[in-house]
Amino acid sequence: MSDKVIAKRSEDWELIPNLLDYGSAREHFTWEHERELLQGGKVHGLNIGYEAVDRHANGERRNHVALRWLDRDGAATDITYGDLQLRTNRFANVLQQLGVGRSERVFALLGRVPALYETALGTLKSGSVFSPLFSAFGPEPLQSRLSIGDAKVLVTNVTLYKRKVAPIRNALPQLEHVILVREAPTQQLPPDTRDFNTLMDAAAETFSAVETAPDDPALLHFTSGTTGKPKGAIHVHEAVLAHHASARLALDLHPQDVFWCTADPGWVTGTSYGIIAPLTIGATMIVDCEEFEPERWYGILRDHKVSVWYTAPTAVRMMMKQGAALAQKFDLPALRFMASVGEPLNPEAVVWGMEAFGLPFHDNWWQTETGGIMIANFLSQPVRPGSMGRPLPGIEAAIVDAGEDGSLSVVEESGKEGELALRRGWPSMFRGYLHEEERYRRCFRGDWYLTGDLARMDDDGYFWFVGRADDVIKSAGHLIGPFEVESALMEHPSVAEAAVIGMPDPVAMEIVKAFVSLKPGVSASEDLQRELLAFTRKRLGPAVAPREIAFRDNLPRTRSGKIMRRLLKARELGLPEGDTSTLEGGK
Ligand code: ATP
Ligand code: MG
Repeated sequence: MSDKVIAKRSEDWELIPNLLDYGSAREHFTWEHERELLQGGKVHGLNIGYEAVDRHANGERRNHVALRWLDRDGAATDITYGDLQLRTNRFANVLQQLGVGRSERVFALLGRVPALYETALGTLKSGSVFSPLFSAFGPEPLQSRLSIGDAKVLVTNVTLYKRKVAPIRNALPQLEHVILVREAPTQQLPPDTRDFNTLMDAAAETFSAVETAPDDPALLHFTSGTTGKPKGAIHVHEAVLAHHASARLALDLHPQDVFWCTADPGWVTGTSYGIIAPLTIGATMIVDCEEFEPERWYGILRDHKVSVWYTAPTAVRMMMKQGAALAQKFDLPALRFMASVGEPLNPEAVVWGMEAFGLPFHDNWWQTETGGIMIANFLSQPVRPGSMGRPLPGIEAAIVDAGEDGSLSVVEESGKEGELALRRGWPSMFRGYLHEEERYRRCFRGDWYLTGDLARMDDDGYFWFVGRADDVIKSAGHLIGPFEVESALMEHPSVAEAAVIGMPDPVAMEIVKAFVSLKPGVSASEDLQRELLAFTRKRLGPAVAPREIAFRDNLPRTRSGKIMRRLLKARELGLPEGDTSTLEGGK
């Protein structure tokens, strides 16, 4: 694919000239300027809830649709910035009346329903800390997160409460208030719970967002648990500067846009970009209550004229499985920018975007810990398929060599692999792992935050993901990144998904083993196995290519859509599976 693919944009939209060129964008960007864009020079406490809702509701965008919610049948309910202000004010008042103080934690266990957005933003306005949970979690992962997080309030619905929370309620003495959304008016309220709507109706509609200091805690996010036990990352109110900047710069989001972030609200993408970032811009965001279903998704893109779409490689691969012809049946003139996050986006997927939508997927990289997008194929710079892109303005990234002895050196040589590091100090940087001080400290070396991911940088400053430090395979003196091998496998027309691990080997130390799921209609056979082995050997050479290939109907993944290589490995070696609380379909 040509290197020259750039974002399609509407010609009459205002362009910010200094952002069209990467160099000048970096040169002109300051976090102070971002603060001014948000606050208009006013000194305000920089409360995320205020910046996302009240700033628009108090101004010209009061009647603009903030949130378009789609129910099971696809019927739309529009909530304007004005409506959202009143609803979030009510929720903030509910918390105040219950005596929930600043920095105390309010958890939500809800699917994508309006109450979730009211809870999240109302909590932020009140100065309390918001923490989302996956609605698919079972009682155990819920109990551990609610107790690690010292949850004082939980907002959920009657069904989820009865099935998952009631059995663990006694083990959560610190949980003072459980507020339930009733899914049907006839539903009885279980003992010791309160009704969301009754509390909301009784609460006042006026509330002045608490003037939080930039460093006041705002959000608690548990990591995806891909590499082990999930960690609780704490974020502060000034993170909103990074949400706003990255929405403008990495997602090219404008107030006229209809934005759709498909991430589950249970993890960081679902909050940073599924709630906060689009609202700080004043855009309209689509919220669909249902999970992935390709025809429904294409229908939403078309019927609601989605212009900017943020999704994940796992969804892209599922769409690829269905074929481009299905996507092409839908006419999508409004769609102009597509982005992806969560896992490496295989070059094949970027190219497929061109075939199916006439647009490339723009890969970008970040973590729960970084709070917002850090590295991206963004705005008008050419997309490099297979690359995560370049650091956003305001973000300094480098490849470093972090020695066991505590030393650190920046790798200057382009193309050389090392650990991806970020210079500390961006506003959405996490400020701690809850109750894990030492672990937090170990993430930093001097000025640098060590991400735990391995990458390399090319001559033009684009970063290329190699693998998580934990997943990298050491074979006969080579360091092999699983991503490269998986991407080569995905180039084969029969392969839908691939995951690669290192298996112990007496001679080579480790050998590469691949797990592959096939496209619909393709059957597993020894011939295909041989063909795939030969196919990858030709592309990657014998030192890097897999030695073994196994077929699987599905690969184990986290609820945020990431392939869990550590689980494939543990199962293969007959070792304990470790923490599987975020395993999709698991407990
Ligand atoms: P845990 O830290 O609990 O093991 P996790 O790292 O998967 O889980 P997240 O914070 O949700 O939790 O994911 C961040 C990680 O996802 C990154 O460190 C990286 O490994 C991977 N990732 C995210 N986006 C990309 C991308 N565009 N390309 C490659 N890897 C990505
Ligand atoms: Mg991680």
